[in-house]
Amino acid sequence: MSKRKNRLTVEEYVQGILSGDMVILSRAITLVESSLVEDNLLAQQVIEQILPNTGNSIRVGITGVPGVGKSTFIEAIGQQITSQNKKLAVLAIDPSSQRTGGSIMGDKTRMDVLSNDQMAYIRPSASGDTLGGVANKTREAMLLCEAAGFEVIFIETVGVGQSEVAVNGMVDFFLLLMLAGAGDELQGIKKGIMEMADGIAITKADKDNINAAKSAKVAYQNALHLFPATTTGWIPKILTCSAVDQTGLDNVWKMITDHHNFHQEKGVFTSLRKKQNIEWMHQIIEEQLKRSFYGNDKVRTKIDQISKDVENMTVSPANAADDLLNDFR
Ligand code: GDP
Repeated sequence: MSKRKNRLTVEEYVQGILSGDMVILSRAITLVESSLVEDNLLAQQVIEQILPNTGNSIRVGITGVPGVGKSTFIEAIGQQITSQNKKLAVLAIDPSSQRTGGSIMGDKTRMDVLSNDQMAYIRPSASGDTLGGVANKTREAMLLCEAAGFEVIFIETVGVGQSEVAVNGMVDFFLLLMLAGAGDELQGIKKGIMEMADGIAITKADKDNINAAKSAKVAYQNALHLFPATTTGWIPKILTCSAVDQTGLDNVWKMITDHHNFHQEKGVFTSLRKKQNIEWMHQIIEEQLKRSFYGNDKVRTKIDQISKDVENMTVSPANAADDLLNDFR
């Protein structure tokens, strides 16, 4: 069946989403994720119309290396959230799917209970050619979920690369999950990612691992002191939790809502969101300029030769760039 046949009208998408119709929400996200130009045009009209109904959620980024326990954590804390009568959407950014066509996150059966929870919506990761493209689709999916009435949005990412920066730019709270066993992890996790975190939860704090988790908490707390203070005055917290024993999860959720209230009271909540929107616009501009530059016929004919000249140092990188940019203009 072709995608074309499956398209609804803008009005049908908008009405469906606003009435909380999950099937139409899924179809709208598929539209947003499509690489067809016609789909993108339609998607933009839908987004434009639902925009006034967006923004009413707590947006949380959740990251951590594969195996740290992200899906188990989300499954467990997610049930606590939905049992408080809050609608939760879980979206994922998985950069591995760009390169390999496979996915670190998508292959396993994940979040069985949440998948069957009427109050939850789980959407596996979007794929695309560039991280910017994938992140863009995730942002738009997030807006669609908000318009459909979701009050909490989790955006999950594998803590191995640049996708964390992208996620940090689209959420209110950035949660880093870490394993106990300090020393090595402190070396292994990128300092930049720790600096972005509004909170850290040390996972699997159960059974024989409880003491190690407590020591890790102290080690990370000490490490955090070395980082610059956040711009809003929020002091990042470090907690321990176990998704298997269901302990500490309520504290993690409380930390997230405390942070939300703190930002609201300080009056920075809205200004941060505004700033993110502006940054998003600039990212799209950069992406599109890059794409049209490298897709430009004149540039494409010349770039291989001029790259060789740069390699052989017969032309300077700056002159080569000028030359290509002039052709592009
Ligand atoms: P992800 O790759 O980060 O999504 O990690 P998973 O959620 O798939 O978990 C990786 C492994 O850790 C699985 O074998 C889980 O059963 C285990 N695990 C996850 N959370 C906990 C926990 O709280 N305690 C213990 N003991 N094991 C856990």
